[in-house]
Amino acid sequence: MNSRLFSYFALYAIFALPYANAQEPVWDGNKVELVSERVADGVYAYYPKDAKVLEKDGKPVATSGGFIVGENKVLMIETMLNKRLYKQAEKLIGQVTKRPISFAVNTSAHGDHSYGNMYLPSSTNIIQHQNTSQYISKHLEDDKAFMIKNFGTGRGIEPIKARAGNILVPTGGRFTLDLGGKQVDIIDFGFAQTGGDLFVWEPQSKTLWAGNPIIAVKPALPWLLDGHLVETLSTLKKVYAFLPPDAKVIPGHGTLITREDIQWHINYLETIKTQVKVAIDKGLSLEETVKAVSMPEYSGYALFGWVHPGLNVPAAYKDLKASEVQQ
Ligand SMILES: [Zn+2]
Repeated sequence: MNSRLFSYFALYAIFALPYANAQEPVWDGNKVELVSERVADGVYAYYPKDAKVLEKDGKPVATSGGFIVGENKVLMIETMLNKRLYKQAEKLIGQVTKRPISFAVNTSAHGDHSYGNMYLPSSTNIIQHQNTSQYISKHLEDDKAFMIKNFGTGRGIEPIKARAGNILVPTGGRFTLDLGGKQVDIIDFGFAQTGGDLFVWEPQSKTLWAGNPIIAVKPALPWLLDGHLVETLSTLKKVYAFLPPDAKVIPGHGTLITREDIQWHINYLETIKTQVKVAIDKGLSLEETVKAVSMPEYSGYALFGWVHPGLNVPAAYKDLKASEVQQ
């Protein structure tokens, strides 16, 4: 998980640039209002009320999650950034079922997906990737400092205490949870953004929670925060191949998308890979490569101006250079 440290600097530099003057977070944890959507019987997504409007324009949306209600157990997916948002999610669950939240899963260690863990009842079992658990146990204070810088002070991040998972999924692991009449698969498809990424699959309704590796519908783009272009691309292709054509996908930050929508993210990464390879073969430097691989056809994403040249192209360059050295 060393690469996570790289991501601090990368992300900090990135966030600090466009938002430094505004003194405003990308989205405000004190203002987001969550709504839930019934996907199928006992299967619900929750996401910010303004998600549909924002995502259409390629603007950043706050975190999405959801819950699955079985005959005797409930699974919560993503515990959110702070107490306020956790409580909203808990209330949305309470409007559907009086059953307790037996399980909660974090799709990654990112604070907006996992900080709410500490507000869960002590009886709740928390499911995480083992890398996520390790990261939270070792780096929570650094992580909070980083999140406060980007999401602001007084957004409920200061009081967060670590509550790591007690059911851990090993690298490449997969297991099935029985909620009573509903089986839910928790799957590590491979490195997708952090190396501690879990996908949640409810096969009856064909619903997948993807977490941040699929951030939102087109024109949103993947963020290669921890590098690993090649692995991320291969993981997203695996996810695509796994899904039936009529699957519903709940991304990390937005409303429901389709399997076909994932193709956008795959195409983007494939194009970066091809173009950065050409640049490396020509002997271009990182700076020259960033200029050469401009990919304006993807610039509809509001964060494109920094996520593409500032994060993704450099990540691709380093990753492809490193694999060249290995060969
Ligand atoms: Zn997130």
